[in-house]
Amino acid sequence: MAQTIAPPAAGAAPAPLPLKTIAPWALFVGVLMLVLLYFVGAEQGATSLLSGTDVHEWVHDGRHLLGFPCH
Ligand SMILES: [Zn+2]
Repeated sequence: MAQTIAPPAAGAAPAPLPLKTIAPWALFVGVLMLVLLYFVGAEQGATSLLSGTDVHEWVHDGRHLLGFPCH
């Protein structure tokens, strides 16, 4: 089955997204990344929110990859 795709018309640019549309998603992703950074970098010992070592073991390789102190 042969399909052809028409090339985009010259001068056709995608419509810009307004900041009001992007801002809530950017905030959500930023908070999500901070939570992820916390769990990778600081979820251990005195700053631990969850008891046990399960979270530490799950993110252990990421901790070493990003250069956080571990052991
Ligand atoms: Zn380690």
